[in-house]
Formats: sequence, C-alpha cells, structure tokens
Amino acid sequence: MKIMKFGGTSVGTPERMKSVVNLINQGEKVIVVLSAMSGTTNALIEIAGMLVSGNNASALNRIEALRARYHDVINELYSTQEYRNEALKMADEHFNYISSFVNGTFSRSMEKSIIAEGELLSTNLFSLLLQEMKIKSELIPALNFMRIDKYGEPDLYYITENLNRELAKYPDTDIFVTQGFICRNSFGETDNLKRGGSDYTASLAGAAIGASEIEIWTDINGFHNNDPRYVDNTFPVRQLSFDEAAELAYFGAKILHPSTINPAREKNIPVRLKNTMDPADPGTIISRDYELKDYKAVAAKDGITAIRIRSDRMLMAYGFLRKVFEIFESYRTPIDMITTSEVSVALTIDNTLYLKEIEKELSELGHVEIEENQSIICIVGDFRTERTGSAPEIFEALDTVPLKMIAYGGSPYSISLLIDTKDKVKSLKLLNQHLFPEIYGN
Ligand code: ADP
Ligand code: ASP
Ligand code: MG
Repeated sequence: MKIMKFGGTSVGTPERMKSVVNLINQGEKVIVVLSAMSGTTNALIEIAGMLVSGNNASALNRIEALRARYHDVINELYSTQEYRNEALKMADEHFNYISSFVNGTFSRSMEKSIIAEGELLSTNLFSLLLQEMKIKSELIPALNFMRIDKYGEPDLYYITENLNRELAKYPDTDIFVTQGFICRNSFGETDNLKRGGSDYTASLAGAAIGASEIEIWTDINGFHNNDPRYVDNTFPVRQLSFDEAAELAYFGAKILHPSTINPAREKNIPVRLKNTMDPADPGTIISRDYELKDYKAVAAKDGITAIRIRSDRMLMAYGFLRKVFEIFESYRTPIDMITTSEVSVALTIDNTLYLKEIEKELSELGHVEIEENQSIICIVGDFRTERTGSAPEIFEALDTVPLKMIAYGGSPYSISLLIDTKDKVKSLKLLNQHLFPEIYGN
C-alpha cells in the first residue's frame, strides 16, 4: 500500500480534482491524503482571527464569500444534479457550523476547529466525486487516528493502532481518502500539525502502515536546487538522501513540512515528490541512498533569533554549556545553530515563545545579546574535507554579505550560515550563480 498526498493547488479547482482521480485510480491500494483547496486555510485563519477580535460582521462577510466560492466549485465539479445537491447540502452544513460562531461566544480553542474545516470540505467533496464516478473508496476521518501528545508531538503508537484499525474495517477497499494536517491533541480537541502539515500526515500514515512509498504530489517538478520563489533558473534535484532532504526541509524548503522526512527515514520508506500538473516528470526520490555532489541544493529559513552569551566564566571552564543548554531544555526550545569562542557562545532559535524567560535566566550566566530578523541559509552538498576543502565557492559567492555565524563540520553534508533576513534573496541568488554555474552556461 502506498500514500499519495495532494496539496492545495493539486485540489484547488474542479479540473485539478478530477485529474487527481485519474492519478489515484491505478489499481493499487492507496491512502489518499488531501489538503484544503488552495486559499481556504488562509481564509479560515482570517475568519477565526476576526471572530477572536470580535469583528463579527467582517467574519460573516468572509464566510459567505467562501461559501459562494465552494458553491461555484460544486456546480462545476459534478456532472449530475443529484451529486451537486448532495455536495451543496454537505458544504452548507460546514459553513453553517462556521457561521454559528458569529452569534455565539468565541474562544481561542475554537479556532482550530474552524481551521480544520478546509480539509474536511476537500475530502468530502472528493469522496462524493469518487462515488459519482462509481469508484469504490472509503473516507477515513483523520480525527479518528491522527493524534499529538501534550508537547505537540505525533503519537506514532496511537496513530499506528488506530489507522490500522480503521483500514481493517474495509478489507475489500483499495482507495482510502483522509484529511491531511488535522489531528486531535492530548485533550481530544481538534488541532493541527502546523502550516503545511499535510505532508507530515502523509509520512506519519506511511510509517504507521509500513507503506511501500510516500508520494507528495504538488505544483512543481520535485525538489529544486534553490528556492524558486526568490531565484530564477532553479532546477529539480532528482535524488536526495533522507538526511539531505530533512536538512533542507527543516531549514526552510517550503515544498516539505519541516518534519516530513523523520517518520519515513525511521521506517526506511522512500518519499517521492511529483508534479500533479506534469505526472510524467520523474520528480525527486528521497531515500537512504546518497548520490553525492559538491553542491546539491540551498534553502533558507526566516524568523530566526540569534542569542549571544558572553562570560569570562567560560574561560577554561567546563559545565558552562550544560547550564546554557539546560535553560533551553527547560523551556522546550530547540536550538538550531551553535558556535562558540573561548568566552562566548552564539546560538539561534526559531521559537521565541519563552524568549523573555530564557533571556532572564541566561543573563545570570553572562552578558546576553539578542538579534532578531535573522535567516539561516543551509547548503547541502559533499563537504568531506578531502574532496571540497572548505567549500570556497560559498564564501566567494557571499563576499559582499555579512555572515553572522557559520556552522561547518557538524555534518559532512551541510553547511549553515546565519545572515540578516534583508540579505536573504541576494544571498540565494549569488549562491545559485556560484554553486550551480552549469545552469548559467559557465
Ligand atoms: P502544496 O500546497 O502542494 O503542499 P506548497 O506550496 O506547500 O505546495 O509547496 C510547493 C511550493 O514550494 C512550490 O510551488 C515552490 O514555490 C515552493 N518551494 C520552496 N522551495 C522549494 C524547493 N527547494 N523546491 C521546490 N519547491 C520549493
Ligand atoms: N491546509 C494546510 C495549510 O495550508 C495544510 C497543508 O496544506 O499542508 O497549511
Ligand atoms: Mg505544502
């Protein structure tokens, strides 16, 4: 059995949804994971925000505009009036639920229930489409098996037990459809796996059933060597190892949710990235294998905060770093990059929820400086020193960009740099020209 996940643009129009039917209906057993139709999650987040701030009239306008959009989709998606009517009834129930919050009291905990409606709508529409086309399938609710613990981490044991139990109910079914992104938390409330989380649903479901492959279908021909949103002339990288892909996804490559690779790597399940608009293209395969190249790909992650701690007490002392790490651990705040000198340590975080508390405790160890609006650039390649030395092309490329931190040597396959976010686009472009000269005809 394999997993096929389709993102927002892949199910974003009636025409796209119909082409997804062709892709999944190939006689193989499959779990189809769907995102919300593109634009829906953003709209729902806006609506929830309006309700939280008591802006109920605007919320209602926005809800009705979204309802009208879904009515248009439904009128085009189905070929019979019977299914149109059924889908309109289903969609109206969802929109009536959302608008019921306009006249009631609204608390933050209800936000997640509204945001979940996007995936509930897309999977219901898709299931009805399969029914109209007489393709046997079952819709299995993600809220029955996808669960996070009190720290927001997926509970793979629970997911495995419950997903397999759902599947076992339908031994004669080949096509299962479920929602990406949404889950229950440890209180049993509706929650989610954070933005872009449908990829993570796909890999968690893949790990839970021991899938033969996890396919992520999106709107581009696989994993590109650089961020195509900022850089022209990027190209697909056809093969990546789990480690390389995990590093790039964690450090900002939007094509994959940052945690997608972990469950697949753990169970050694290949992840294939494919383009729904161009299914013949081979895309990218991510597996245990390494196809080493000097430079394979570059990604960047924004929203980074650098913290520098300077203390003479570090001089010739041991145990100082442990004290620093313990502070971050007690606030469950992961550290991304770290560098040290004899009397100072610099590190970065992206979760600033407890920054004030962390700063206060660190200042008992030394002088603390905080710098926000930073970005990490991650370059993946082969940096075993006997081959590429100290990767001179990177530093040549960025000789006009102030580098705030450099992490080199932690892994032979990646180098991370900290820069000001305002220098990010320029840096990505310069790296493209210097590290991949073949595309510029050099
Ligand atoms: P989906 O809705 O299918 O999940 P996303 O928008 O989340 O799609 O991810 C696909 C997008 O990721 C691409 O359209 C592209 O703009 C962006 N992207 C960023 N970095 C990369 C990269 N290295 N390779 C491919 N796409 C990337
Ligand atoms: N619909 C969710 C989002 O927009 C999840 C996803 O698309 O992966 O973030
Ligand atoms: Mg995505």
